[in-house]
This record gives sequence, structure tokens and C-alpha cells, in this order.
Amino acid sequence: MNRLYLDWNATAPLRPEAKAAMAGAMEVVGNPSSVHAEGRAAKALMERARAQVAAAVGCAPDNVIFTSGATEAASVLSRLPQGYDVLVDPTAHDCLWAHFRSGGGAESGHTLAWGLANNETGIITEPKRAAEGGWEYYSRRADWLLLDIVQAVGKVPFSFAWSGADMAIVSAHKFGGPKGIGALILRSGLDIQPYALGGGQEMGRRAGTENLIGIAGMGAAAEAAARDLANGVWDEVAEVRNILESELSAGSNKTISVGNGLPRLPNTLCLIAPGWKGETQVMAMDLAGFAVSAGSACSSGKVRPSRVLTAMGFDEALAAQAIRVSIGPGVTKDDVGRFAKTWTAAYAKALARAA
Ligand code: PLP
Repeated sequence: MNRLYLDWNATAPLRPEAKAAMAGAMEVVGNPSSVHAEGRAAKALMERARAQVAAAVGCAPDNVIFTSGATEAASVLSRLPQGYDVLVDPTAHDCLWAHFRSGGGAESGHTLAWGLANNETGIITEPKRAAEGGWEYYSRRADWLLLDIVQAVGKVPFSFAWSGADMAIVSAHKFGGPKGIGALILRSGLDIQPYALGGGQEMGRRAGTENLIGIAGMGAAAEAAARDLANGVWDEVAEVRNILESELSAGSNKTISVGNGLPRLPNTLCLIAPGWKGETQVMAMDLAGFAVSAGSACSSGKVRPSRVLTAMGFDEALAAQAIRVSIGPGVTKDDVGRFAKTWTAAYAKALARAA
């Protein structure tokens, strides 16, 4: 059976450019910290990747600190001085949410951790836009702003320098790089407690020999992602997503398309199907050959309704009946048409069973 991968927000397929760069990096013998020719070659590869990532996110290469991913990068939030509150946007990813820390007292400083593009709904809340609403409350209180740009990079234009953020977190596998490599983008002049102590790598911020293969793959993916974005590749993706959205919504007058009409990532569709559990939808679609994801999180065998959707005001029942379909370049109208047909028939069956 031909499977169709529609879960790009969980992880995107590895780009051929990243694969080639990684294969090249495997041939490099040196340690980037060594002073001999082999070491310098490794270092040059790493610095090239740093510049590629910097160009893709709109910052200087010196602002890029390579980490094992966005989750590690976000753990900077637990390395802030004592007494710092960490305020977290309620729809933010768990890797930020886990660091929520309040109660430092009136005297304490504040950091706001904000998700620019939501992984479940694709809704984009830009700092400028937020300034008109919720952001104002925070900006009066926040000394530092950390932006989670994991889902935005390569899909929508973004510039760290322009954003006014102090920190940003990035993960390579969301834009076609390998898994397990990412970066903290740190504004010049801002200091943090290092992620790890030791050899002083990454400008003293994260000791340990760098993951050169992963870094090379991340750099190549960042460059390719920026090129695709500039070439309008994601405009076509948005067209396919919109077709999918209207086909799924046409099948039933009950569905709720979350974020329709709001600024959204071009590739994401979050759909609530009342009467049909998200987890059941995922399993039914998996059996039919489609990889999608539920808008709910599962931990220790217990399915919880999506925190993102409940924070948006949906009740728990609806929040547990959402699926996320996330696509990318190369997913065609025919592909999503096939999915829509299968999903619509399965939903009708599920409703008939429940009646
Ligand atoms: N932030 C967002 C918005 C994400 O979607 C993800 C991945 O799911 C992360 C952060 C964490 O990325 P990683 O698991 O690669 O560290």
C-alpha cells in the first residue's frame, strides 16, 4: 500500500541537500576545536552551517548556538538568574510550558516565552500583532522575550533581528534537516548560564564536541528552506491545504476548522470532528495508509485533550476530537483528495455507529 505522510509538523522528510551535506561531513576527520588542517576543515564546515542557519533566521552567525534541538535550547529558561519569572504563552509547546515559573515576587525580572507559530493549529501570533492584545500585558512586565520559531522557520518569512526577541529556539528536523540538532539564537550582549561546562565550545555556552554531521545537515537544510520560501513554494502548499480544508469541511456541517481566517502556517489544518475522538481518527487513518496526528497528547496511556485547544476556549470534549493534518511541498491535490475521501467516509461511519 502506498502510504501518504501528512504529519510534517511532527517532523519533515529529510531534504536531499541535508543528506548530501551529512554524507560529506562524515568524511571529515577533524575535531572543529583542533588547530591542525583537519580541525580547521571541520571548523570551516561548522561555521558555514552557522552562517546558513543565521541567514535563514535573520541573525548574525555569532548569535547561533548549536544544541541538540529546540527542547534543549528552551531549557535556557531554567538557567535564568534566580528570582526570574518565566511567563509562558498558554498555547506554547510543552518544551516552553515545562519551564513556567511564577512567584519570584514583585522585585523579580520576567521572561516571556512565546510560540510564534503553533504546532497544533498553525496559528501565527506575531509579536507586533500581539502588541495589540495580550502582548501589551506581558511587554510591560517582561524583560526578555524568547520566541519559539520552530514551526515558522522556512514556512513563513521571519527575521530574528526584526522580531525584537532576545532569544529564539530552532529545530532542524522541522525544515528538512536531521533530528536531534537545533539551535538557540541569542541576542548579542545577552549572557546565559552555559548548557554544559567543559571545553568551552559554542562560545562557552555549550561545551562538548559539536555534532558536526547534524550541524552540516541543519545548515544545508536551512539554506534550501530559505530558497524554497523565497521561490514561493509554500504558496502552492497553502493552495493544497485550502483544498483539503474545503473538502473535509464539505463532508459534514459539523466540523470546525480551527484558525480558519486567522494568520496561519501555509501547511497546517487542525480540524475538530464532533463525535469522533482524535486518537480514533489517527488510528483509522493510519490503517488506511495516512499518517496524521491528533490534537491531543498521550502520556502514560492516558489521552488528554489538547491544552492548546482548551486554552483557545474549546471545551474538553471538542478539544479531544481534533486531528492535525500538516503537509509540505510535493503533497499534491490528488493526495489530499484521496485523504479527504477516506476521512469523510470514515467520519460518516463513526457518526452512524454512535447514533
Ligand atoms: N516547539 C515547537 C513549536 C515544536 O513543534 C517542537 C517539536 O515538536 C518543539 C518546540 C521541540 O522540538 P524538538 O523536539 O526537536 O526539540
